[in-house]
Amino acid sequence: MGKIFVVGIGPGNRLDMTARAVAALERSDIIAGYTVYVDLVRSQFPQKACLTTPMRQEADRCRAALEQAAGGQTVALVCSGDAGVYGMAGLVYELSDQYPPVEIEVVAGVTAACSGAALLGAPLVHDFAVISLSDLLTPWETIEKRLDAAGMADFCICLYNPASKKRTDHLQRACDILLRYRSPSAAAGIVKNIGRNGEQARVMTLLELREETVDMFTTVFIGNSSTTLKNGRMVTPRGYRDV
Ligand code: SAH
Repeated sequence: MGKIFVVGIGPGNRLDMTARAVAALERSDIIAGYTVYVDLVRSQFPQKACLTTPMRQEADRCRAALEQAAGGQTVALVCSGDAGVYGMAGLVYELSDQYPPVEIEVVAGVTAACSGAALLGAPLVHDFAVISLSDLLTPWETIEKRLDAAGMADFCICLYNPASKKRTDHLQRACDILLRYRSPSAAAGIVKNIGRNGEQARVMTLLELREETVDMFTTVFIGNSSTTLKNGRMVTPRGYRDV
């Protein structure tokens, strides 16, 4: 029987890929995925066949992998970060009943919240919420409701998909919601291109964050009300009691 590994390859460099992810790619006949992510691993596995699809064609990508697996192949479907965090793990399971039975195994990866947090210091040490600002698949009103609830509950917040070519003001709108609950001087940070060329991590205040220009390779962090900026690092205490 064919098999699909749905593999989170981490942020983009070899060191941040888990040994289990490397083993899954080694065991596969075909590496499938969005061109950018397949290109990140292609040179490490030159003997493998590759099956690439353009951005946003997630369902087609999963179908192509399922077809190959149904034909008896072992396929590694690669996603950046973790395959189950805004990745394709769910879609593979959803579409799999339209194909002859294949084995499916999800391989966990280091998600941008974790790799980005490490670059900024320690911003997510207490309870945190991860919210995507992409309204392609989620109504914007729902996103606003979640931002408001996370702000009100004093979660540390990690924002994925803060902008795209078409959406440029989502981060500003998100900051305006959070400013209802957090001080303008609250600690924030952004990380770009984690583990890739052009990697960048910067800390700033929430008010400064509101004026930042971000792109689709950026992950944004906003501390809770106890997060501080110490020597250029975001630090969230583990609890609210004095240490
Ligand atoms: N499955 C991925 C998330 C996919 S959603 C994961 O677990 O990390 C795409 C968003 O993830 C991007 O818009 C960005 O916010 C974040 N992201 C993914 N990889 C990144 C990287 N290398 N550097 C910075 N942000 C990244």
